[in-house]
Amino acid sequence: MFETTIAGSLPKPAWLAEPNKLWPAWRLAGAELDDGKRDATLLMLKLQEDCGIDVVTDGEQSRQHFVHGFLEFVDGIDFAHKVEIGIRADRYKAMVPQVVGELGLKGRVHGREARLARAHTRRKLKFTLPGPMTIVDTVADAHYGDRVKMAMAFAGLLNAEARALAADGVDVIQFDEPAFNVYMAEVADWGIAALHRAIEGLTCVTAVHICYGYGIKANIDWKATLGGEWRQYEAIFPALAKSRIGQVSVECRNARVPMGLLKLLDGKDVQVGVIDVATDEVETPDEVAAVIGEAAKYVAKNKIIAGTNCGMAPMRWDIAFAKLEALGKGAELARKKFGVGEQ
Ligand code: ZN
Repeated sequence: MFETTIAGSLPKPAWLAEPNKLWPAWRLAGAELDDGKRDATLLMLKLQEDCGIDVVTDGEQSRQHFVHGFLEFVDGIDFAHKVEIGIRADRYKAMVPQVVGELGLKGRVHGREARLARAHTRRKLKFTLPGPMTIVDTVADAHYGDRVKMAMAFAGLLNAEARALAADGVDVIQFDEPAFNVYMAEVADWGIAALHRAIEGLTCVTAVHICYGYGIKANIDWKATLGGEWRQYEAIFPALAKSRIGQVSVECRNARVPMGLLKLLDGKDVQVGVIDVATDEVETPDEVAAVIGEAAKYVAKNKIIAGTNCGMAPMRWDIAFAKLEALGKGAELARKKFGVGEQ
């Protein structure tokens, strides 16, 4: 009960990439960069295990950014001529590559780090991939002329990589869809259909992560405009509850999301965000246990997994790992406090 996991990413060591940045430059190159990614992945597994995390990830040490890390392995994308677009309904500007032709995979995307991680941890292993809607919101289209058509094309590629990850021994494959919280009407229209295409034929656990973004200024400013209650989830949870996705990862700690909305995910396993990635203030185990206890009013205890609100890639290393320790200890405390009469 109350297994723990993280949304996906962890800070990279300063010898591998610039610290505290969302789009950090690598500090190594060539074979040294490959070795550095390998060493950092092993380090992340060890640190998660030491913090009591049950479902571990590679910490996304091999990718510069959660979307572009995937796109680098896709044919039909021009990285040489990036253009500036407004992403997440123009919440912030980003320099993005352009889709210039039919999309296809160049080969395996995360095979190397997946097999490495699998060989070096006995814990359950989760791998994250960007979701189709979030990908199409983070590239410029100069070929398809239709967001849905392009999303389905990306979903086909994601499916190929997801199947290969499952064959590598990955236990949980999670698609990151922060765009679901922005284009709520499109989630039911085609967002879930695209996810279904991405998970087609998978027998491992599947998950979707829907958050209010990293703790960067643009997101913090955006949250300030959302009012006293954040009800975005209310618009999309009913459709997610009916979907074939196994787990839904949501932001709860310090969020103005009414916890009662979790009831709308009836039947799903819920990764409850109990760690805020937008503040450097480290949670206490008591605070972590309190959020788990609150979630347990609306979600069956055996369906709660305690996690982080979002990725920790841009965070300070010492703070990120202090927070993971609090996550492990808080879940342990919650098991003691709320575990009587286990469901
Ligand atoms: Zn997130």
